Amino acid sequence: MTTEPELEATARIAQQLIRFDTSNYGEGVSNGETVAAEYLGSLLEDLGLSTTYVDSDPGRTSVVARVAGSDPTLPALVVHGHTDVVPADPDNWSVDPFGGVVRDGMLWGRGAVDMKNMDAMIVTALQDMNSAGIQPKRDLIIAFFADEEAGGVRGSHHLVTTRPDLFAGATEAISEVGGYSVTINDQRAYLLQTGEKALVWIKLIARGTASHGSRVMHDNAVTKLAEAIVKVGRREWPVHLTDTTQQLITELARILGVDPQRVGPEEIVLATGSAGGFIQGTLRTTTNPTLLKAGYKHNVIPDSAEALVDIRTLAGEEDAVLAEVQELVGPDIEIVVMHRDIGLENPFQGALVDAMVGSLQAHDPGTPVLPYLLSGGTDNKALSLLGITGYGFAPLKLPAGLDFPGMFHGVDERVPLDALVFGRRVLGDLLTNY
Ligand SMILES: [Zn+2]
Repeated sequence: MTTEPELEATARIAQQLIRFDTSNYGEGVSNGETVAAEYLGSLLEDLGLSTTYVDSDPGRTSVVARVAGSDPTLPALVVHGHTDVVPADPDNWSVDPFGGVVRDGMLWGRGAVDMKNMDAMIVTALQDMNSAGIQPKRDLIIAFFADEEAGGVRGSHHLVTTRPDLFAGATEAISEVGGYSVTINDQRAYLLQTGEKALVWIKLIARGTASHGSRVMHDNAVTKLAEAIVKVGRREWPVHLTDTTQQLITELARILGVDPQRVGPEEIVLATGSAGGFIQGTLRTTTNPTLLKAGYKHNVIPDSAEALVDIRTLAGEEDAVLAEVQELVGPDIEIVVMHRDIGLENPFQGALVDAMVGSLQAHDPGTPVLPYLLSGGTDNKALSLLGITGYGFAPLKLPAGLDFPGMFHGVDERVPLDALVFGRRVLGDLLTNY
């Protein structure tokens, strides 16, 4: 019998969280987050904090606690994570996605990247402060939300609607999908997330005449839907730079040693390697068909056909893009908006940004920190409804060869153990000094 070497606390907590299968299948179907919320809540209670559990539905538990700061005149900072994960098909993985396997110096499993790693880092950073007798300057509101992977309806949105008091006094927040390093041209750089695209999830419905599959039929719903989908899916949306992406392109051009007047923004982004695929989507609108539904028998023409399209726009462009999509597909195709959420864009400046950059550079001197826009969404969208400005800051120093951005919702999600220790320390510094 072999005994596992003792894991560092952040890895141990993240491993335990991965072993709770909190898969969120969307549309209210989920394994639930209660067990993860209670586990994290108990670790906060061990630090003497009082916790509030909020259930939006049975099994859909979020937990919030407040660490009192020494200066009550300062606004509070929300430090949040989500405890649900997207599902994982074990057949595609090299390891059991819910096993919490440690191999090759990494912790493997669904949530190792998104975002049980950060949940654990938040806890160990607080433990470090607590054992050193450090009180933060401002109140820290620690929140672990349910249901982020389905838009936060049963998590962050539920809390900001029903329990805004839990976030009283907060003006800023930090959370996931930012603060990690990428390697560009042999140069490590950190991507700090300063904004998120908006999302509009639509259904296209084509209607036609139901009839026998042997008839001459021009009013065929399946054919009409197919024509519409091709137009939406093939649409080349123009590049539209925002303040964030303009700053990012300028910095990337500098690192790559190219002239942004001569080389286009998309080319610059794609030249960054694994980060490029992740950032490319932030340069323009995207309209991806993702699901098709029509028909029930080989020789019957159905009277309707449906498709789901995932639209991501830059902040504020949602309605203009919807109108353009309607024009593309034509008046015969009905568009139903199933779900939408706003985009965010925050400045890459100010005291919090300075503190995040300073904490990273204290632990990785001389390494540039770049702003970037997220093509997806986070719980910061919900918190913004309370006037809270959210950034993506889950600090991780990563090896050059690791396609970290590709592991969000991907196969063989894994995080280096030493990156978790780095994150614990950087986060601890930030929460101590800000
Ligand atoms: Zn996430």
